[in-house]
Amino acid sequence: MNTTTGDQYLVKKINKAIVLDAIRKHGPLSRAQLSDLTGLNKGTVSTLAGELIEEKLASEIGLGRSSGGRKPVMLLFNRTAGYAVGIDLGVRYALAVLTDLEGRIVAEEQRELERRDADYALDVLAATVKALIAQAPESPYGIVGAGIGVAGIVDDKGTVLFAPNLEWENVELQRLVQDALGIPVAIDNEANAGALGEMYYGAGKEASDIVYLSVGTGIGAGIVIGKHLMKGSGGFSGEIGHTTIETNGKKCPCGNKGCWEQYASERALMDMAKPLGIERFDGLVEAACQGSPEAIRLFHEVGESLGVGIANIVNTFNPELVVIGNQMTRAEPWIRNAIERVVSMRSLPFHRRQAQIRFASLDTHSAVLGAAHYAISAFFAKERVTL
Ligand SMILES: [Zn+2]
Repeated sequence: MNTTTGDQYLVKKINKAIVLDAIRKHGPLSRAQLSDLTGLNKGTVSTLAGELIEEKLASEIGLGRSSGGRKPVMLLFNRTAGYAVGIDLGVRYALAVLTDLEGRIVAEEQRELERRDADYALDVLAATVKALIAQAPESPYGIVGAGIGVAGIVDDKGTVLFAPNLEWENVELQRLVQDALGIPVAIDNEANAGALGEMYYGAGKEASDIVYLSVGTGIGAGIVIGKHLMKGSGGFSGEIGHTTIETNGKKCPCGNKGCWEQYASERALMDMAKPLGIERFDGLVEAACQGSPEAIRLFHEVGESLGVGIANIVNTFNPELVVIGNQMTRAEPWIRNAIERVVSMRSLPFHRRQAQIRFASLDTHSAVLGAAHYAISAFFAKERVTL
């Protein structure tokens, strides 16, 4: 007869989550090390480790170093117990990656979006993810879920309320994708996803106050304070691309005039490049690589406009780190100096001294990896108790 009460059951579940968490973060560990690290007694650790091995979430590997006596068996997190899908739904593309449970990419698919309507984008998205899932290795838990970072304002029910650059309003993205794929789906704004990607897997691993700037067709920010994403009361924070930097400036699809992204985004840059007869960002990067003075001048100009907004961010948030991500990372060689010069000219000396400006170390993959992280953490939250 099972006499375990609800309380005991909960305590066990919590303890098991603690053991799994320790193995995930600090493995390989022996049972004795796990006991020291978690404060749980050796018998409890042994029982819980046995269950985790049975559930295929941990495995035993080789023998560790002995501190005198028998060499211990080491426990390692089984990162291939399942796989997650991370999706970056941009204005012109859908990029999806398949990762293991530690966020390592095992496969990748990218499709162009030739139109903007939501039905079409959903079809392309579903096809991209299905092609990716078909490449997933066999695993005990299979595909644990998908996360999507989308270039728009998302509410807590996974509805894209407004995406000015995609021209979407009230698209129930989470429900639609969940229905199409039959797996749990988490949705967030792509700048928030990018911030998480850089914090967990990239340039922000060591920092706790980070502003991640997604500079693509538009500009969005993911704001991390004390290792937590600051989402605002409605979850809509970070729309920094729509802050005004010119009172009577260029019109923006959001309805305002003089928004920062009209001067400092990839789209702003491509508008400026039209007289050169260059239509694609790749073409402009290529021209700059070959030393075209016009192309380099345009990057320089956009770098200066980026610097203006970044100086405002540095003064407002006093971050340790500002990470520039998305497509504009590829322009680093030609915009870095302009950004740094303007930021040091326009920000307050105390703030400037502490703030480092870096380019995304995950390159253009910050948002997909952050999106995959949503799926991975949702899996662990559902299976166990998160701490
Ligand atoms: Zn705007």
